Amino acid sequence: MCQYCVAHGMGTRWYLNPKNLNLKKAWEDADIRSISEAIALGGPKLLVETIATVNALVDELPYSEQNLEVLNKMSEQSNGGQIVPLEDAINILSIPQKFDVKIGLTYCACRKQWGGQDKLSCMHLEPYCDALKKSQGTLSKYDRYITPDEAIEICRESTREGLVQWVQWGPMPHVIGVCNCELPYCVVIKSRLLSGVRNGAIKSHYVAQIDPKKCDGCGGSPQCLLACNFGAIRFSRLEQYSVVDPTVCFGCGVCRDKCENKAIGLIDRENVAVAKDLW
Ligand code: SF4
Ligand code: SF4
Ligand code: SF4
Repeated sequence: MCQYCVAHGMGTRWYLNPKNLNLKKAWEDADIRSISEAIALGGPKLLVETIATVNALVDELPYSEQNLEVLNKMSEQSNGGQIVPLEDAINILSIPQKFDVKIGLTYCACRKQWGGQDKLSCMHLEPYCDALKKSQGTLSKYDRYITPDEAIEICRESTREGLVQWVQWGPMPHVIGVCNCELPYCVVIKSRLLSGVRNGAIKSHYVAQIDPKKCDGCGGSPQCLLACNFGAIRFSRLEQYSVVDPTVCFGCGVCRDKCENKAIGLIDRENVAVAKDLW
């Protein structure tokens, strides 16, 4: 288990603990509400600008170890997230309705700041999504409510597109949404990969594993390798099969969906000695 499941999971993942998905209830606490609202009020216009600024930093400045610790702590107390495979995203999106908490569909601010692309890929919980709507800005159609089934279908379709699900807290352990992300747009994945800001995108609780008996190397064009956002798959031209490096894998599960031979499965990170402490 990651440190957040130990602290906030009550025996399950932190993001599947129903208590952490009742955002309406969490906002009755003025401190939590003010932190969440501050994140929302950064968007959408300001959020796009903030992301552009962070992207500029990520692209140009290496962080010192000391600054990274500060950034990780700040992220815990405000806004961060964890990569999750599709099945966990589906489970997350099924819980809020039990508390009559709605889901709002919102445009991706990261893609927006790269050439103004409009993609409806982010889903935020009520009342965070209402705060986003109030803040308005460059993304005019920022928010509409969708059913849990629609939200789940968006995640399924996103997985088919090769996008990665990311559950967002604000602050930890309160879930504010689920996004469907990809490189090179996603600022949190970039911050993690290029600058080591761990709490922007913690690795999932899983690691992918390829069954060499089922893998035929896709005839020399390994679809799993081409789909991996994290560069975790290697292909042996000699042996004509692919291998996952568990120390690099984020456990998103996107490669699974690309394998027609069903050669790829996800296993618990904690059962993989070299990866169990790598979050
Ligand atoms: S976190 Fe992902 S989906 Fe959300 S705004 Fe950024 S790239 Fe878009
Ligand atoms: S997609 Fe499947 S069959 Fe193709 S290289 Fe990857 S694991 Fe092997
Ligand atoms: S190897 Fe598969 S599960 Fe691991 S990061 Fe790459 S696409 Fe995701």
